[in-house]
Amino acid sequence: MQRTAQGIKQVRLSEIFTSVEGEGMLVGTKTMFVRLAGCPLGCHWCDTPYALPMQSGDIYSMDEAKTLISEQLQPNTYKVNFTGGEPLAQHEGVVELAQFVKEKGIRTYLESSCYDSARFAKVLPHIDICKIEFKLSDAKAVDDKNHATLIKNELECLELAIGSGKITYIKVVVTNSSKLKEFKDLVLKIFGMVGVEYISGFIIQPSSKIDEPTLETLFGFYDAVYPIYREVRIVPQLHKSIGVR
Ligand code: SF4
Repeated sequence: MQRTAQGIKQVRLSEIFTSVEGEGMLVGTKTMFVRLAGCPLGCHWCDTPYALPMQSGDIYSMDEAKTLISEQLQPNTYKVNFTGGEPLAQHEGVVELAQFVKEKGIRTYLESSCYDSARFAKVLPHIDICKIEFKLSDAKAVDDKNHATLIKNELECLELAIGSGKITYIKVVVTNSSKLKEFKDLVLKIFGMVGVEYISGFIIQPSSKIDEPTLETLFGFYDAVYPIYREVRIVPQLHKSIGVR
C-alpha cells in the first residue's frame, strides 16, 4: 500500500475480474480475482508478465478499490482470490481488501509465492484459504544464492498457515527441467515439518507452453509425494484449456 502526500492509502491493481478457478483443488469454482500489481520475483514461466512491474496496473484509493470489488462481485461467487503479481508486495492493501471481502461473508483466498513470512503473518488473519506456491530452482524466481532463503520463507508461511488452522494447499509448478531430487528433498522437508492431516491438497502443476513436462516426468513427481501424502494431484490450468483468463 502506498500513501499520497495527504496520507490517503492507495493500492495498485492490475485487474479485477470473475472467472472459473483454473488451478488446484478448488478448480471450477466461480471466483473473483483481485490481481495486485508488482512482484519482486521473476519465474521464467510466469503467465502474468504484465503484472510484474511494481509500477504496472492502475492506482486506486482503498475506497475506490472496494467500490470496484462491490460493483463487480457476481452472485454465487465461491471465493475472492488475492493474486498477482505477488500479493505480498502490497500486503497492507491485501489486509484491508480481504477484511472488506470477509465482511461481505465471502471466502478469501491467498495465492502467493510466500517470499516474505513477516508480511504473510500480517495478511493471514484475514485469509480463509492459503495456496502456498513453492518455487523449485529451475523456476529462476530468484538468483541461486537466494533460493534457500525463499524456500525458508515458504516453509515458515506453511507453518504459520497450519498453525492458524487455515485451509492450506501446496502448489509446485514443474517443468521438464525440474530436478526430481530437489523436489523429493522439498517434499521431505514439508512433511517433516507438518502432518499430512493438516494439508488440504498438494498440487503438481505442469508448466504451460514452456518446457512442458512429459507424463513420465509428471509421474516421477507424483510418485515422490503419493507414498507420503495421498491427496496429491496433477492439475493443469483449466482456464487456459477453455480459453478464458
Ligand atoms: S511469483 Fe508469481 S507473479 Fe511473480 S514471477 Fe513468479 S509466477 Fe510470476
